[in-house]
Amino acid sequence: NKKLVMIPGPTPVVRSIQDQMGRETVAFGDPAFVKDYKELIDDLKLLWKTEGEVFVIAGTGTLAMEMAIANTTKAGDNVLIISQGFFGDRFIDLCQRKGLKVDVLASEWGDVVPLAEIEAKLKEKKYSVVTVTHVDTATGVVAPIEEIGKLIRGFKDTLYIVDGVCATAAEPEYVDEMGIDVLLTGSQKAFGVAPGIAVVWAGPRAMERRKSLGTIPEFYIDFDKWLPIMKDPSKYFATPAVNLIWAMKEAVQIIKEEGLEKRYLRHKKNAKAVQSALLALGFKILAKEGCRAVSLSNVIYPEGINDLEFRKILAEEGIVVAGGLGPYAGKLFRLGHMGNIDTHDLVSAIATIERALYRVGYHVELGKGVGVLMKGLLD
Ligand code: PMP
Repeated sequence: NKKLVMIPGPTPVVRSIQDQMGRETVAFGDPAFVKDYKELIDDLKLLWKTEGEVFVIAGTGTLAMEMAIANTTKAGDNVLIISQGFFGDRFIDLCQRKGLKVDVLASEWGDVVPLAEIEAKLKEKKYSVVTVTHVDTATGVVAPIEEIGKLIRGFKDTLYIVDGVCATAAEPEYVDEMGIDVLLTGSQKAFGVAPGIAVVWAGPRAMERRKSLGTIPEFYIDFDKWLPIMKDPSKYFATPAVNLIWAMKEAVQIIKEEGLEKRYLRHKKNAKAVQSALLALGFKILAKEGCRAVSLSNVIYPEGINDLEFRKILAEEGIVVAGGLGPYAGKLFRLGHMGNIDTHDLVSAIATIERALYRVGYHVELGKGVGVLMKGLLD
């Protein structure tokens, strides 16, 4: 069987994006490439709506997290980390190593941190930055980033960092309007590009903060080093990932053709249909109703299904999914449904999950999930 990779990133890469990665690499000073890079930068600023800047550099989501923190804080600053799982927690170690004083508000896995708790914490102490993970890939929980942004705006000098690695281009994010100061993401999830590009939007307040910090200890991820290149990509600081920049440009072209708002709606509809189908088959979804992400589902097995056996058979049948993390290792699988996947992929995924269930001896009426899915997709 052909294998469809339905993990929550990297997501399937469509042919036109693959073609960009397969192109003959040119010099980074090549005028045509410089023009493409500049257009990509301008489009990303326009689409995600910031009057500030965007940085598009070689790296992954983790590098983007580090870049966000490096350019907005100095050792000794207070940081509030709002965590809804494994990737929210990743900010803890990252910030502690930098000598930041860290407070954490963590939810139960599957739930969000209540706004009132965040507000109480903000009133207690002055924080340089607050970090929120828009969608935590370990839990499939989506945070109410707009409401949190409104809260933070009430506290002068506190910047708002949003990790959009598993959300950007799937869940609505409007940088300035939502009061976001830094939004960060990677190429391999809802953009549908191979891993390797980090994107960091920095609103006007974040750029001001960077200025106030003077020289920072970090080098490669310093906004000041990259800003001249983002304004004029014919300049050099460090070699851009030429083919991945082209791939990102093609991904943004696809987004513009689809329409970003329509893309958000498609993700919402697909997620609802997929999740209804999975529930109909006897699975549970880890994220509570009301805070379920549109980009992936964390799917809890019914009693008696062995995770490794199920995922092995599922892969044999043609669908690759990811295992659970932390306390949910062995208890759930993670199914990505973001990016440039289409109806065919979704129907295949649910049909294949039914075949795998059948093969592990969990008898469901074949076609039951597919029926629910198709109804959801048609509604
Ligand atoms: N944040 C979130 C929400 C993620 O899902 C991930 C990756 N799964 C990361 C950060 C880290 O990104 P990367 O693996 O690209 O470094």
